[in-house]
Amino acid sequence: MAEIAEVIVDVKARQVNRPFDYLIPPEYSDTIALGSRVIVPFGPRKVQGFVVRLKDQSEKEQTLKEILYPMDSEPSLSEELIQLGRFMADHYFAFMTQCYETMLPNALKSSYDRVFEWHNEPVKELNIHLPMTWQDAQQTNSLKTLLALKKDNKVLLTTIVKDKKTVKTETLVTRSLKRSQYKDIFESLRPNAKKQRELVMALSLQTAKTITKEALLKNYPILTQADLKSGEEKGWLTISKREVSRMKPIESDHLTRPLVLSNEQQEAYNRVLPTIEHNEHRVFLLEGVTGSGKTELYLQWIQEVLKKGKTALMLVPEIALTPQMTARFQSRFGKKVAVLHSGLSKGERFDEWRKIKRKEATVVVGARSAVFAPLDYIGIIILDEEHESSYQQSEVPHYHARDIAIRRGQYHDAPVILGSATPSLESRARAQKKVYDLLQLKHRPTKQSLPEVHLVDMRDALLDSEGHFSQPLLKAIKDRLKKEEQTVLLLNRRGFSSYVMCRSCGHVPMCPNCDISLTLHLDDHSLKCHYCGHQEPVQKVCPQCGSHDMRYVGSGTQQIERELKQLIPDIRVTRMDWDTTRKKNQHQHLLEEFADHRTDVLLGTQMIAKGLDYPNVTLVGVINADTGLYLPDFRAFEKTFQLLTQVSGRAGRGDKPGDVYIQTYDPSFYAIRLAKNQDYETFYEREMQLRYRGKYPPFYYTTLLSISAPLEQEALRVSYRLKAQIEKHISEDMILLGPSPKSIARINNRYYFQILLKYKKIDCIEGVLKKIVSDTQAKNKQDVYVKVEREPQNFM
Ligand code: ADP
Ligand code: ZN
Ligand code: ZN
Repeated sequence: MAEIAEVIVDVKARQVNRPFDYLIPPEYSDTIALGSRVIVPFGPRKVQGFVVRLKDQSEKEQTLKEILYPMDSEPSLSEELIQLGRFMADHYFAFMTQCYETMLPNALKSSYDRVFEWHNEPVKELNIHLPMTWQDAQQTNSLKTLLALKKDNKVLLTTIVKDKKTVKTETLVTRSLKRSQYKDIFESLRPNAKKQRELVMALSLQTAKTITKEALLKNYPILTQADLKSGEEKGWLTISKREVSRMKPIESDHLTRPLVLSNEQQEAYNRVLPTIEHNEHRVFLLEGVTGSGKTELYLQWIQEVLKKGKTALMLVPEIALTPQMTARFQSRFGKKVAVLHSGLSKGERFDEWRKIKRKEATVVVGARSAVFAPLDYIGIIILDEEHESSYQQSEVPHYHARDIAIRRGQYHDAPVILGSATPSLESRARAQKKVYDLLQLKHRPTKQSLPEVHLVDMRDALLDSEGHFSQPLLKAIKDRLKKEEQTVLLLNRRGFSSYVMCRSCGHVPMCPNCDISLTLHLDDHSLKCHYCGHQEPVQKVCPQCGSHDMRYVGSGTQQIERELKQLIPDIRVTRMDWDTTRKKNQHQHLLEEFADHRTDVLLGTQMIAKGLDYPNVTLVGVINADTGLYLPDFRAFEKTFQLLTQVSGRAGRGDKPGDVYIQTYDPSFYAIRLAKNQDYETFYEREMQLRYRGKYPPFYYTTLLSISAPLEQEALRVSYRLKAQIEKHISEDMILLGPSPKSIARINNRYYFQILLKYKKIDCIEGVLKKIVSDTQAKNKQDVYVKVEREPQNFM
């Protein structure tokens, strides 16, 4: 048996970013395993650690310290995830401990208590009083005993997250005697012992041996908790607890059946099938126009995987994770589905995670971090809307779910499907070079045709437009209203916001902490900073010149809603934006409101562009197509094209044909013109030429260094020092741009600079980048902070 554990400790410093040897105390030799979280002494501290290897001997000379105690009764990480963390730390310039923490649900990251409870009746001889936390057990030296009792099923171990979201349990009542014996007891009871008689009666009548307390008390309302307790003391019944999930179980009586595939779908289906059958890793790019039946294919591949007794991982961007999308998976696979997204509470996420770990769920549908779902025997990994930038984490480690998905696919010898109507140029170029297999769906399988897209030239329309609405769009909205059909309106908010400006002197109220104008919020008449949270009331008088002529500028969703209601007084609008969706589940409620046709228009920002599939929507309007085009981001055209194509795909998903009106000031610009025809392939070719000339991805790799400090001079000084440090190692074909101020140069009173590296091979500078990260991250946050991001998706 292994006696020594290699442990990654939770200390973020370069010298410590490697495993340390610890002795496993014999009493924990059963509990501590590969992947266990443990507490270890480290210098004067006690820190959390992850066991990443077990061995019999240490290469170290000095005497080893002992692990203090395990944090859980089962390991949190599998061997696969341990390896993956090692790769991530290396590839994404992060510390191993950060990578392992990222893989686990938040409930395990925060401070929490694990609590022992009696499973049935207490073992009185032991003189232990439960419930007791793991820590208390450890301090009173009863941990060993309790773990032994747990093994014998006498004791239950539950987790209490400190935010009070505990593992949820339900209480069960189990009959202790044979049914016939209750008859005798009943006869022996005094007639006025009403409650006791009722209880005995209940137990004798109950067919199942065990029933939930809730159900029992509901059927026999005169009984109380106290009656059950006294029944337990008399030996009539036992009371026990069982862990239950917070997630509502889904009714799986009428599961949907697979649809008959179209020829095009069938062809794509057949290309992937052999890799599922023969456990072969390969990456497929599924390029299919909106509504071409990609999701139906995902469902059918997953079904095949499940038939083989394997598991499936289905990733979607957070915003596309609508109730509709999850419902499609749940209604096909029922209880086998676990759903992971940020709308869940910590406790709910933890429950879903445990369900996967216990192998009760074999299909995981989730957003970015679900890529670390603790599945074994993965048979397929699917990333829908693979071009979405939200697949990259903005905090350290800056991993991209696509890279991780492919890594996991390799480990499990499983196919990976990247699906999109508008693939990222990187993925499409890899398919071009046959690194990925390209599958294409050019048609919708239903009789629905693609919607007809009209570009409205706002330069002409401006003359007779009403506010933000051109006459053609307004007319179309009114027409749908008459026909009782619905409309989706998109306000493109990339690089756009509503603010207040003085008409006399041009003064715009800015955030005192950041270099950005404050955003106007009409609901509470305040100005807010979306970066640091600063908030102040709207000023009526200009602080600079004293003028009373302060006006709203720009078009927030609230302004658009108001305008629309002025133009069409009885129109009903569901508005989805930053304000209306911050609270938990609000997103879902708003979508339901629209789906039930309680409103006529769904008005929103980017978040409404994806995944919605409402048959009654026959009109999509884009208020402002151009605003994202000229942002300082080499993907600006790509992102605009993707957005317009995606949102157009929301129209005409039912039997009725759809129309799309895109309002633009530049209708002949290729990103807009090609989105009109959903012509991805031509867009790809045009855009590739630009990227080639600019030496941008997919022709070059990129890495971005972001340098920030409370003092501008300091941030700049360090930026130039880093530049010099890197330049020493730079190779011929490497290009270094910057340092330059970020497009928002100051956020929350820190100044930001960036250096962009473009290269074909990273080898020569990997070492120096790693050194930079550990030199700058270990220090206090007050000082200079540097983050290094591979293939950055977001330049703002
Ligand atoms: P995508 O994921 O590409 O947007 P979906 O899978 O959502 O496409 O399909 C769009 C619509 O077409 C859905 O309503 C779906 O039920 C339907 N559909 C998909 N495949 C078929 C098929 N083979 N036969 C009939 N209807 C289909
Ligand atoms: Zn002024
Ligand atoms: Zn601010």
